[in-house]
Amino acid sequence: MVTQWDSEVSVRAFADEASWIEIDASALRHNVEVFRRVAAAAEPSPGLGVVLKGNAYGHGFDQVLPVVHPHVDWIYVITAQDALRVREHERSAARAPAKVLVLGPVSPREAVLLAEAGVCAVVGDRSFPALADALREAGGPPLDVHLHVDTGLGREGFLVEELGDVLGLLEPLDHALRLRGVLSHFANVEDVTEQAYALEQVRRFDEALARLSTALPPERSLERHMAASAASLVLPPSRFDALRVGIALYGLWPSSETRLSARVVLGETPALRPVLSWRCRSQAVRTLPAGSFVGYGCTFRCSEPTRVAVLPVGYFDGYPRLLSGKAHVLVNGRRCPVLGRVMMNHMIVDVTRAAGAGEERVTATLLGADGDEAIHADTLAAWAETISYEIVARLGAHLRRDVVGA
Ligand SMILES: *Cc1c(COP(=O)(O)O)cnc(C)c1O
Repeated sequence: MVTQWDSEVSVRAFADEASWIEIDASALRHNVEVFRRVAAAAEPSPGLGVVLKGNAYGHGFDQVLPVVHPHVDWIYVITAQDALRVREHERSAARAPAKVLVLGPVSPREAVLLAEAGVCAVVGDRSFPALADALREAGGPPLDVHLHVDTGLGREGFLVEELGDVLGLLEPLDHALRLRGVLSHFANVEDVTEQAYALEQVRRFDEALARLSTALPPERSLERHMAASAASLVLPPSRFDALRVGIALYGLWPSSETRLSARVVLGETPALRPVLSWRCRSQAVRTLPAGSFVGYGCTFRCSEPTRVAVLPVGYFDGYPRLLSGKAHVLVNGRRCPVLGRVMMNHMIVDVTRAAGAGEERVTATLLGADGDEAIHADTLAAWAETISYEIVARLGAHLRRDVVGA
């Protein structure tokens, strides 16, 4: 006979046991403050916006939003759904609505919902007349839009040369699509210490602004924004009316080049504090005799008796397989090498020197600080031949995320 059980509760409880992410709210607020100071020092001062795409860079949309909401002027999301989640949060927390912009594409149906919710959308390709049709048909309020200008990334947006034509198409749709802002996005600020390409993008953006101001009625002032984390820090002419800050608000540097340049431009290196830690409780700790192999492919062999901890984390959870045999985790503040290959749901670490004699299970830190040691997302990224953005953004959405330091 099958007994009754509450699958929701039981499944959740098991998931929670495996590994969890800690989001340090005080670090998040500290990083917001760093950018507030960068903005305040600029003349005129741009507004501050936070980018919450990619599940808030893997930190958890639902965990990050309530912490940053009161402290920023703009919230940038990729999907219409996330924009509506911002409005839902504001309703349930009785907070005044923030300015929200959907950076990604929106469908005609979404355009109607966003207009009703007072959310702005980006017009970045020639599909906008269909949005205007849907808005007219719905008979609701118009949608505020920001025009994306492609100044050299080759992703979304109109070329400067297309703007006359696009404005000609937009103007008769003004009852449905209200032009409120103009934006662009940099291609190459992070990978370099000289900013010739970025400055050329700023020049094209200025050219686009000049064309818009001649074409639009003089009372129509547009919100102009271009700078993501790196440009906000190292390229003052890019700051315009708002900063769109993603990775750095999470306490991670866009690149080591950006860190060096920031010190030169700002006179000191801003102290960003990493927001995320990732920990797990091990399965059993056991001792393998000398000569034992560890993991798939038998790529590691113990040369002496070795105490190992089996961790219930693998590449499914976002721990890259490229870290096999390269990375370490922290146990009791000590580095413990990853032995052999990272598996889908497991990895094995050497705790011979880290685990106490009687410890049958240990807590491991995969990312973040433990005692005097810390594992930085940049370090994992270098080992895994990627960037910190990808390390955090790929942390499984299924992992439990706890806000600490609130
Ligand atoms: C991702 C993104 C940002 C934020 O970039 P960071 O380097 O994480 O600060 C800003 N603007 C747009 C359009 C983006 O896609």
